[in-house]
Amino acid sequence: MKLTIIGFWGGYPKKDGASSGYLLEHNGFHIMIDFGSAVLSKLQNFLKPEKIDAVLLSHYHPDHIADIGVLQHARYIQGFLGKKPERLPVYGHRLDEQEFLKLTYKEVTKGVEYDPSLPLQVGPFKVTFLRTNHPAACFAMRFEADGKSIVYTADTSFKDELVDFSADCDLLICECNFYSGQDGKNAGHMNSIDAGTLAENAKSRQLLLTHLPHHGDIENLVNEAGQKYKGPITLAEYGKVINI
Ligand SMILES: [Zn+2]
Repeated sequence: MKLTIIGFWGGYPKKDGASSGYLLEHNGFHIMIDFGSAVLSKLQNFLKPEKIDAVLLSHYHPDHIADIGVLQHARYIQGFLGKKPERLPVYGHRLDEQEFLKLTYKEVTKGVEYDPSLPLQVGPFKVTFLRTNHPAACFAMRFEADGKSIVYTADTSFKDELVDFSADCDLLICECNFYSGQDGKNAGHMNSIDAGTLAENAKSRQLLLTHLPHHGDIENLVNEAGQKYKGPITLAEYGKVINI
């Protein structure tokens, strides 16, 4: 599996950056995990929008879905300019009907409900879900293909069930919206100590910190998480590629 980080800022995109969006590829299949603000623009340095095979959404906060509307426009317009792209499946949960209905647009995209209690097969990926602790209904996702695994926590405060859900994963993409000593629980987010604790207890092979805060020196997050987790830790960065 090949992961490319397109956007990683929490809440909104920093100047010239993007909020949550991750391109995951395997065997020529391209899935976008979340599709936040400025992701469509940034993605085009790596992949044409009409080449996306599926989109999978954790929840409906704007920093995770803001660019779905313009992605629909891009595929619609490309249908007139070139070869009409296949109808794009956009997977989302149905706990917010109003938001779910927006995933379907003309013949361009189709909202597809996932049942978080069941595994979902999308291309080569088997995806399983875990409800997170967040103000909006949100699901962490575990991707498995050819014996490798990637867990994406999406947005959540720390919860014990995340440890089993993330057990022995090859890569933990963990949200880290706060620093050590700050309590993100009310906002439904983790701090660096939570992220390190989760990676350590789950025995993850590597930890990627993402959904990063707009305040402080984000390099400190790595040292702080390292107080709990002894494996390799990296900060999310635009265009960073991780091969698993
Ligand atoms: Zn959120």
